[in-house]
Formats: sequence, structure tokens, C-alpha cells
Amino acid sequence: MADIYNFSAGPAVLPHPVLVRARDELLDWHGSGMSVMEMSHRGKEFISIAEQAEADLRELLGISSDYHVLFLQGGATSQFAMVPMNLLRGGKQADYVNTGAWSKKAISEARRYCSVNVAASSESTKFTTIPPQATWKQDPASAYAHYTPNETIGGVEFDWIPATGDVPLVADMSSTILSRPVDVSRFGLIYAGAQKNIGPAGLTVVIVRKDLVGNTLTGTPSMFDYKEHADNDSMLNTPPTYAWYLAGLVFQWLKAQGGLDAMAVINERKAGKLYAAIDASDFYHCPVDVRCRSWMNVPFTLAAEALDADFLAGAKAAGLLSLKGHRSVGGMRASIYNAMPEAGVAALVDYMKEFERTRG
Ligand SMILES: *Cc1c(COP(=O)(O)O)cnc(C)c1O
Repeated sequence: MADIYNFSAGPAVLPHPVLVRARDELLDWHGSGMSVMEMSHRGKEFISIAEQAEADLRELLGISSDYHVLFLQGGATSQFAMVPMNLLRGGKQADYVNTGAWSKKAISEARRYCSVNVAASSESTKFTTIPPQATWKQDPASAYAHYTPNETIGGVEFDWIPATGDVPLVADMSSTILSRPVDVSRFGLIYAGAQKNIGPAGLTVVIVRKDLVGNTLTGTPSMFDYKEHADNDSMLNTPPTYAWYLAGLVFQWLKAQGGLDAMAVINERKAGKLYAAIDASDFYHCPVDVRCRSWMNVPFTLAAEALDADFLAGAKAAGLLSLKGHRSVGGMRASIYNAMPEAGVAALVDYMKEFERTRG
């Protein structure tokens, strides 16, 4: 197997032991004679896989019985619509905080269903910071308040949870879920596409407070109704069974690492090492305010854009893949999710130093 480190923003690297186990179980899951891909979702084998995955996720995040945990499809992008369809509950307005590209997409989709009060925005600083909550213009009459705790493209992350009083707080945690402990009881709803920190693409996890479901907009399709999914144990139709199984293996791997407290220590150390290398150099630059730099997605630029192609080619030759920044911001972006080993970050830092020494 080629010895590489994959810094892709998503679909992203999976823990190596998870892939090995999936390979070992690929043709014959636990003596069933079948691959998980071939099993009925209603059979006892798959039901046991599904229930174990939910139990492990509940344990990792400390999710109480006040919440449904749903395993859906359609990506975080479908949640941009499902959230207003389900959570407006007769209301006409929602608060949104605009901290980057994904916030903006959530806002424009929500505008199809309600009036959006943009309570705060960092667009004027090109999304390199997070406006302090004291400056937000929240409306207590809003049906819910939505924010993006980690902006995958801009590399901006909240290390605090906004206070919203009685207004249910909704978070798009696609690129930060499971990277550190979080107090789920502060949220009305959390959603995440799986392909960053949970498992393969095709699965979307939704954690929603039970009292918030069951009052959808007129005309909401049943596939877009959280209560329909909750009432059917996320098996309203055929769920993405193999992705669900792989997510379950990732949850078991996280528990074996010591859970989210242990992951937070590792993630802080990995990010700290990379930012320290960037900040110690005049050649590399990270545009994000030091107070809100992401642990998961680290954007940086080189002293001259003309060197980008050589940097990427040399990185590829050194086995450091998918470092090109998002087309909307340019430069580089290293995504260092849970599954990125510390050795991968160390290899990147070594390569950056060598590139600066020879080309800077
Ligand atoms: C990747 C991502 C999305 C989009 O996810 P899809 O699963 O492709 O719909 C939305 N929000 C954030 C924060 C993301 O990182």
C-alpha cells in the first residue's frame, strides 16, 4: 500500500484500523456468509449493527434520551432545507449567523421557507473571524437560531457555544463533530454530513430534541420529516446501510482511543503544531484570527502564489495529498480530522520547512 497522508476536506481520510476491519469483514460479516452491503436492513444482523452504532454515538457525545439520533441521507445540504421545514413550527423567522461559505448556503436555502434574520456576519472581514456574541442582533421571536461551529472552507471554528435563551440552537457540525466533547443539551438540533469526521459519504447524522419534531410545514415530504424518520428508527426507506456500518466502526475506534476527551487533546496538539510552523515563518501565512482558528481545517498561503503549483507537486511526491485550498479562497488547506495521524501532521510540517528552505 502506498504510504500517503490524505489531507482532503471531504470525503476525507478514515482511520486505518477501521478500513482494515471493514476489509476483513467485507465478504463475510461475523459468520453470516454475507457482506453488510448485501443484508436486509430489517434483518437481525443489520439491526444489531444499527443499534450498536447509535448506542456508541450516544455514549461518545453523552446524548440523553431527550434526543432522537437519526441516520439519514441527503448530506448536510438537505439539512439546510429540513431544518426550516421542521423547526419553524408555525413561526415565520429564524436567526442565522454568517461566518463563511457554509453559513451562506444554509441562509440562502432557509430563505426559501422563512425570513432570515442575519444576527451576525463576518463577511466584511472576509470571514477570518467570529463576531463576539455581544454584537449579535438576536431576535427572541425567531423559531430557532442556526450557526456553523466549524467553517470547513474558511478554517474558522467556534470554541464556545452561543447562548440563545429559549430559542433552540441549531448547529451544522459537519466538519467538527466528534473532534472534541460538546454539551449536546445546549442544542435543539445538531446535524453533520458523515464524510468528514464520521464515515463515508452518503450518511447524514441528525441529533434532534424530541419536543421539536412533528410540526412540519404543510406539504413537507415524509422523507423530509424528522418525526417520520424517528418513528421508523431511521428506516422509513432503505437506509445507507454500508455507510451506517462504517460509521459504527469509526465510533468503536473513537471509544478505543479514549473517547472525545482524548481526541480533543490529540486534535489540539496536531493543530497547534501546524499553526506554530505557519506562525514561525514569514513564508507561510494563515489569514484566520488566532482566537478562532479551526482544529480541523487549516488554510494557509505561500509568500507568492506562483509557488503554489510547485508546492503541491512536491507535496504529492512526498506522499502528502489533497492540500490544494478551496477554489473560493486559493492557497492551501490541510484538513486534519480525527483520522489524520499525528505523524501526518509532522510529515507536512517537515515538508513545509524544507520547501521554505529551498524555495523561500
Ligand atoms: C461539507 C459540508 C457541508 C455539505 O455537506 P454535503 O454532505 O455535501 O451536503 C455543509 N456544511 C459543512 C460545514 C460542511 O463541511
